[in-house]
Amino acid sequence: MGLMAQSESREETVMKIIHEKAKCIGCGSCVSLCPKYFEMKEEGKAHLKGSEKDSKTEVETLEVSDPGCAKEAVEVCPVQIIKIKE
Ligand code: SF4
Repeated sequence: MGLMAQSESREETVMKIIHEKAKCIGCGSCVSLCPKYFEMKEEGKAHLKGSEKDSKTEVETLEVSDPGCAKEAVEVCPVQIIKIKE
């Protein structure tokens, strides 16, 4: 109980991982570098796991406290469609 209260009162930085799925060329780099957040779908495009997708723009967004390996995915994506926002 004590631990729980402590972590709840700590300030949490919420960051957003953004994946512009419509522009994905399916190279698979993000999936191999960051399988925690990315997986390849049948249509040949990467999917940001557990994300919410905007039905019009096909932009996937996931809120996380620690983007971890997604930072590397940002660097490696050849069409630069993965972003992290604070
Ligand atoms: S690295 Fe970029 S282009 Fe390649 S699969 Fe991932 S999101 Fe798509």
